[in-house]
Amino acid sequence: MPEGDSIFRAARTLDRALAGRTVTRFESVFPRLTRIDRRDPVRGRTLERVTPRGKHLLMWFSGELVLHTHMRMNGSWHLYRPGERWMRPGHDMRIVVTTDTWEAVAFNVPTAEFLDSRQIDRTDSLRDLGPDLLAAEFDLDAAIDRLDALGNVEIGDALLDQHALAGIGNIYKSEALFACRVSPFARVPAVPRERLVKVLSAARRLLQAHTSESRRPGPRAVYGRHGRPCRLCGTTIQRRLQGPNARSTYWCPGCQPEDSRP
Ligand SMILES: [Zn+2]
Repeated sequence: MPEGDSIFRAARTLDRALAGRTVTRFESVFPRLTRIDRRDPVRGRTLERVTPRGKHLLMWFSGELVLHTHMRMNGSWHLYRPGERWMRPGHDMRIVVTTDTWEAVAFNVPTAEFLDSRQIDRTDSLRDLGPDLLAAEFDLDAAIDRLDALGNVEIGDALLDQHALAGIGNIYKSEALFACRVSPFARVPAVPRERLVKVLSAARRLLQAHTSESRRPGPRAVYGRHGRPCRLCGTTIQRRLQGPNARSTYWCPGCQPEDSRP
């Protein structure tokens, strides 16, 4: 699953290319999209903006129509000049949105639907997402309240719960916990609020640094480094599958002892 920051960048890139443009062609292999397009064509509408919501991408068209896509593991949006040769085979194409200057092509996107913009907050997968770490107006207190509301779950698992917090992925979950010396297996209620503030602030900083085009992401401290020594204490970095979705968690047992009182 792409990290929130890659959805954020995809949305920003698409927004810069497409916002304010008139759609000259719409095509999809999804019957539930083409059915609506036939009844109420996308062609001729203005593409008003493209926004991320957590790991979802929303394309807002004039007339209250929103195209909601989710990349999952393999989906991606590409931008091409009209007529330019695609870098992926045609049979991977799922959606094409063309304007006079750019053509946006969704390849292997598994989830796509049209929504009425007024439905967005009533849609299960989009409703009630926690504050987005990359949003300019990120609400730290609300995010922590939502983490608390998850109950007695491990922090490494809680950080990935999109109902508490949107936008963090596996990489920055592990990196932010390491940066703050918090064990991924600590239970949320056992982590003091000021520690949670630090973890979320670190995650936000890491995501912003990675999203900024002018800076290269710093080297990773724990993610993907299992079996290698911690750069701070020399302890061997560990990896474990965590939570009901068995997501990889990387941590340093030396810097992030499981039984420590943070
Ligand atoms: Zn260490």
